Amino acid sequence: MILVMDSRSSDTDLNTISEKLKNLGFELEVSKGKEKIIVGIIGDTRKLLNFPFHSYPGVIDVLKVLKPYKLASREFKELPTVIKIGDASIGGKEIALMAGPCSVEDEEQIYEASQGLSKLGIKILRGGAFKPRSSPYSFQGLGERGLKMMSEAAKKFGLLVITEVMSIEQIDIIAPFADILQVGARNMQNFMLLKELGKIKKPVMLKRGLSSTVEELLLSAEYIMSGGNKKVILCERGIRTFESYTRNTLDLSVVPAIKTLSHLPIIVDPSHSTGRKELVCPMSKAAIAAGADGLIIEVHPNPKMALCDGAQSLDLNDFGNLIKETELVAKAVGRSLNNIQVTV
Ligand code: PEP
Ligand code: MN
Repeated sequence: MILVMDSRSSDTDLNTISEKLKNLGFELEVSKGKEKIIVGIIGDTRKLLNFPFHSYPGVIDVLKVLKPYKLASREFKELPTVIKIGDASIGGKEIALMAGPCSVEDEEQIYEASQGLSKLGIKILRGGAFKPRSSPYSFQGLGERGLKMMSEAAKKFGLLVITEVMSIEQIDIIAPFADILQVGARNMQNFMLLKELGKIKKPVMLKRGLSSTVEELLLSAEYIMSGGNKKVILCERGIRTFESYTRNTLDLSVVPAIKTLSHLPIIVDPSHSTGRKELVCPMSKAAIAAGADGLIIEVHPNPKMALCDGAQSLDLNDFGNLIKETELVAKAVGRSLNNIQVTV
């Protein structure tokens, strides 16, 4: 339910009704706009059927959220959500860059990747330790050993870590090593996992399912948010179409669409969506032009030797060039990259 108040209402007006609703057990999400103050009311709003909203000064209207997702909707929260982790932020003016190998393979590989990425100013290191591979015979990741390797390398170079969680049992194993937990495309509708992730405090990056609609993506975000964890980052990573030249089809229209439907940050994965390293830089630029809040990109110190997704992985040199090129697009749309200044 949404309470609309006049933006000229005094703090006392807002506090009076807020206190009343809080005392009735509701949680509130306040967005102060130029013309209106929007107060999202969280809880069993059926109890408010006879609540005398209009007897409170400043109240203009009380509305039902019409979308099937509520907490994730723009109606509910007008201002964009900005997720701050250390000195990185996702969803604000800065575009967050997350980069690293598909999988952690050994100490040397993750050390070299972290060293190279930190030199380029990257703040968030990606790397899989538990890998959702299509074939049970493919490299499945190093598990907990891989998490430790990644966390040590990240600490040494001052990087934050994002890594994938595939099951409920893995949450407690991964959380101590990760700053952001990633839900992969194949698990976007693993509702039990999403519910458990709603109970943790760390941000969750939710990747769009292989054949999921925007509404399904936002409903999955709602699963996490309704459990209490509001720190959700959405990720477009390509969807299945008839096209087989690219690994998936990058649906960039989803970026501006999500911006109108939701306040949550949305980032783009040009690596898994194209499957081809030569397409990663052009699609990164297009993603930023479309309004993406960040990019997650596969970078390997030696892509030819990668145990997983080498064909779509950039080496550090190519990634350095990508940063320079995307920086120009970021500037053109009034944003900057979330890394140290790179001179172009
Ligand atoms: C990944 O990012 O490591 C990954 C497996 O991606 P997706 O879930 O999008 O396939
Ligand atoms: Mn991969």
